[in-house]
Amino acid sequence: RPVIAMRDMTKSYLMGETRVTALHGVSLLVQRNEFVTIIGPSGSGKSTLMNLIGCLDRPSSGEYILAGQPIAHLNRSQLAQIRNRHIGFVFQGFNLLPRATALDNVALPLIYAGIRRSERERRALEMLKLVGLGARIHHKPTELSGGQQQRIAIARALVTQPSLLLADEPTGALDSRTSAEIMEMFHLLHQAGLTIVLVTHDPGIAAAALRQVVLRDGRIIYDGPKAPASILS
Ligand code: ADP
Ligand code: ADP
Repeated sequence: RPVIAMRDMTKSYLMGETRVTALHGVSLLVQRNEFVTIIGPSGSGKSTLMNLIGCLDRPSSGEYILAGQPIAHLNRSQLAQIRNRHIGFVFQGFNLLPRATALDNVALPLIYAGIRRSERERRALEMLKLVGLGARIHHKPTELSGGQQQRIAIARALVTQPSLLLADEPTGALDSRTSAEIMEMFHLLHQAGLTIVLVTHDPGIAAAALRQVVLRDGRIIYDGPKAPASILS
């Protein structure tokens, strides 16, 4: 059973009188334990596709089945439920609570899942150890480096054991050495069995994955291992 099965998905936005089509008939199949990067220049439809994959928005037409669940017809609250159950998000800006400790940040999604405090803390600690922050659990994000903050965000994304890790420009706010460390972390998680979709505009970051999906003007123009440089540029 694929994690992501999208068929002929179109998304258009109404801007005043004009209809802007951001995605034209995109089809995408992602199996368990794949590591896929989605790359394209600004305006190619990455955010739109990311929002659809992440169940933050619904397609205008086409079919999307996430972890066996058809989602195109669901209402907002059903979408939110599917999203919380199946997807862990990582963003460029970390999106952590600045006044909460690393442990509390990571445990937060488990509150919504209705898990009791001792169990939340046990699982959050386990995830922080996994990302190499076992010695920093009582630190606040402001007391940590960008790379450490992103690792907290990764731990938070994984604490609910999602079917998919969805990362949007996760290295966009980091220097090149820290970016490489975060990419190494994604590779380790992938080797441990995780399914990852990473959206980026950076060919250097995309090149690190085994499968690259290249978007241009709302269409997939390449999908395979190691996209040629001429397509990426
Ligand atoms: P990218 O993330 O690759 O920069 P986007 O998905 O943000 O691309 O945008 C693709 C196209 O869709 C652009 O022309 C953009 O202006 C348009 N677009 C994206 N989101 C909206 C929206 N909410 N309303 C109107 N147009 C949008
Ligand atoms: P990114 O850096 O991820 O490409 P964008 O600037 O393309 O970010 O888009 C940021 C957010 O704004 C996205 O959620 C996108 O859907 C929305 N958006 C993009 N273009 C437009 C637009 N023309 N009108 C309204 N919303 C837009």
